[in-house]
Amino acid sequence: MNDCIFCKIISGEIKSQIVYEDDFVVAFKDLNPQAPTHILIVPKKHIENIAAASEEDALLLGKIQLAAAKIAKDSNIKDFRLVANNGKGAGQSVMHLHYHLMAGRRFLWPAG
Ligand code: 5GP
Ligand code: ZN
Repeated sequence: MNDCIFCKIISGEIKSQIVYEDDFVVAFKDLNPQAPTHILIVPKKHIENIAAASEEDALLLGKIQLAAAKIAKDSNIKDFRLVANNGKGAGQSVMHLHYHLMAGRRFLWPAG
């Protein structure tokens, strides 16, 4: 956990562009954005990913989604995608739970 990039962002040790913070979560701009809006929403508690979450994290998981809705609403974003990669094989590169809030472009899946 000590060399976790997102724990260091949460503590302020590594600088980031924070857009939202409350008692449970921090949200900041992705360093390598894949959409005009690309924000990472992370719990302050270090949890590796969704698979590592437990029953006691149920409230926290809800708080992350509510933070996503608030961030989008405050930015006048109506349509957005919320994605959490779980595991290296699914594209997770930072082993601290995070949701990608993306908006401002069309997404390939589903087609249309
Ligand atoms: P993952 O691939 O684990 O689903 O997503 C990790 C995300 O974290 C990537 O989109 C990557 O660009 C972003 N990221 C990695 N290191 C940093 C950093 O130091 N600062 C910020 N703001 N984003 C980072
Ligand atoms: Zn961490």
